[in-house]
Amino acid sequence: TPALEIHHLTFAYPPGQVALRGINLRVMPGEHVALVGPNGAGKSTLLLHLNGLLSGDGEIRIFGTPLTPKTLQQIRRRVGLVFQSPEDQLFCPTVYEDVAYAPCYAGLPPQEIAQRVREALQLVGMQDHAERSPFHLSLGEQKRVALATVLVMQPDILALDEPTAGLDPRGRRELSLLLQSLPQTLILATHDLELVRQVCPRTVVLEGGMVIADGPTAQVLSDP
Ligand code: ADP
Ligand code: ADP
Repeated sequence: TPALEIHHLTFAYPPGQVALRGINLRVMPGEHVALVGPNGAGKSTLLLHLNGLLSGDGEIRIFGTPLTPKTLQQIRRRVGLVFQSPEDQLFCPTVYEDVAYAPCYAGLPPQEIAQRVREALQLVGMQDHAERSPFHLSLGEQKRVALATVLVMQPDILALDEPTAGLDPRGRRELSLLLQSLPQTLILATHDLELVRQVCPRTVVLEGGMVIADGPTAQVLSDP
């Protein structure tokens, strides 16, 4: 079963700004797929559909299950969305609390929460910053904590919007290595073509809300 299937997804922001025009896409488990295209192409809008934050016409299936109001809760546990700006995801006094927030809310036992938070912070290299305020971290560190707040729920699909935007070269390199190593299905919306070459064997190009190319990254990015 594909991790993600999108059939004929169309969406307009009220009162009529069309952002997606009949998107079809199929991603297999474990695939790392880049979503590229100019500003306004529809990348962010597409990501917001993957866990039901927006809902257009058409069909989305996650591991075969159609995304509907009934399956929304269940699907949100399988699809983790990392927003472009970490401020949208960090709101607690400490890094630890931010990463523990979702597993607490999900009602996981305290011991498991503590272990998952430790693992997630370790994965993003922030294990020594658990007691710091997220608001006093660098942007790169904030972005890693935001990623940890999603990884802690162990999603099968991870969708990231501009993960390297605003990072310095070292932060970029570290994030790239981390993303390369993740076993999850990755959907990565970005303008960072170097990152795409490093992390994603496959690239999908969006333009005007449509898929205009989809194939091996080397091929798609070399086409004029
Ligand atoms: P990206 O960096 O992904 O291209 P955008 O610059 O398109 O992001 O959008 C940044 C934010 O502004 C998003 O929250 C998006 O929903 C919002 N936004 C983008 N275009 C419009 C618009 N025409 N009207 C209102 N909000 C918009
Ligand atoms: P991208 O992420 O590729 O830059 P977006 O998904 O942000 O593209 O935007 C796709 C289209 O939808 C653009 O025309 C943008 O202006 C519009 N748009 C995005 N967010 C909003 C919004 N909140 N309200 C109205 N229009 C929006």
